[in-house]
Amino acid sequence: MMHENSICFSNINQPESWKIENYMASGGYLQWKKILQGQPGDKARQKIVEIIKTSGLRGRGGAGFPTGLKWSFMPKTTEQKYLVCNSDESEPGTCHDREILKLNPHAVIEGMAIAGFAMDATVGYNYVRGEFIKDCYPIVEFALQEAYTHNLLGKNILGSGVNFDLYNFLGAGAYICGEETGLLESLEGKQGKPRFKPPFPAKFGVYGMPTTVNNTQTLASVPKIIEQGTEWYKSMGTDKSPGTNIFSVTGHVNKPGNYELPLGIPFADLLERAGGMLDNKKLKAVIPGGLSTKVLPGDVIADCTMDYESLASAGSALGTGAVVVIAEGTCMVELLKRSSRFYYVENCGQCTPCREGTGWLYRLLQKITQGKGQESDLTLLVDVANRIEGNTICAFGDAAAWPVQSFIEHYYSEFEYMINNHGKSIAA
Ligand code: SF4
Repeated sequence: MMHENSICFSNINQPESWKIENYMASGGYLQWKKILQGQPGDKARQKIVEIIKTSGLRGRGGAGFPTGLKWSFMPKTTEQKYLVCNSDESEPGTCHDREILKLNPHAVIEGMAIAGFAMDATVGYNYVRGEFIKDCYPIVEFALQEAYTHNLLGKNILGSGVNFDLYNFLGAGAYICGEETGLLESLEGKQGKPRFKPPFPAKFGVYGMPTTVNNTQTLASVPKIIEQGTEWYKSMGTDKSPGTNIFSVTGHVNKPGNYELPLGIPFADLLERAGGMLDNKKLKAVIPGGLSTKVLPGDVIADCTMDYESLASAGSALGTGAVVVIAEGTCMVELLKRSSRFYYVENCGQCTPCREGTGWLYRLLQKITQGKGQESDLTLLVDVANRIEGNTICAFGDAAAWPVQSFIEHYYSEFEYMINNHGKSIAA
């Protein structure tokens, strides 16, 4: 659903919005052409990096790292550099990048071309989630061919001397390939196991060469920011969280969907746009940024605005902007068990705390829901989660620990009730 100042969803209400002629009809590729037809040298590159820095655009993949700053880490050497778009959207609850890929693929391609030019990366890869093979992948492939047919990609583009070749790459369906170094390994044809860092991808990326990895929504935002300017972009959102964000609202709401709205919108407004609570039930809790962010009780999120700072100060995170709304009557123990199974199944097995710990967490929660739990299991659950957090190669370990810590912190009495009542839920 689009807002009057939509960025990534700006043209999606047009019929066949994914086609290049329709993207061009609404100003698409003009910014890329302007760059190519100007003086595309180092000064022009620096100017683009500065625009993105000044805009305050932050990576929408989950961490919220400033995009312009990330671009400035790319070494100014003559070696081969790469740009990678992380379209491996797999965080549970998150479903906006797939809509961008399906409905506005040329914004991603133009954003990648501009970003590649700004960082002097002459080759780009769009790593697309394996499960998107049927609905998204044919469209992004079609769009890529269209961009080549219009001479907007390739060598010496429009006679400018600028080279940028772009390839789509289909993943094989593993959540961990959304972690940027796991993604790079997978792109190289290996198992998608995250790398130790440092070195970071800007130094040692794909094929060991300098690489920047940006998320789909981040890159799709770039052409509009260049077109409309930094003041326009900063006029939306908050000082520290400017611009719009696509919130994927799911769970117990009347109108689940993707909503592109300015950051900083009050949670209550977002809930209203999503049609309010299903069956007029009371709000119990919200997971505000994808499954890997901490759950917040309904009365806590009620006072929050949807931006990086507000959600962090409430004890959670904006993450991927996937807002899972949970109504009264939901069993938080069952919900946590299902969440924990996800991390147990999806970890890559490289590090012991994560590989073994996620199994412990899931089995302990199974024991509790089967009516065999003891009060000491709650201490053990938190202890195992604490031993995973901060002790693993990648952030997946933290992501597995945080739901357990926060569910038990906020809903301890529900876990206790189930243990004392041999598996009966307080919510039943
Ligand atoms: Fe793999 Fe988990 Fe270690 Fe990440 S934290 S590298 S997913 S085992």
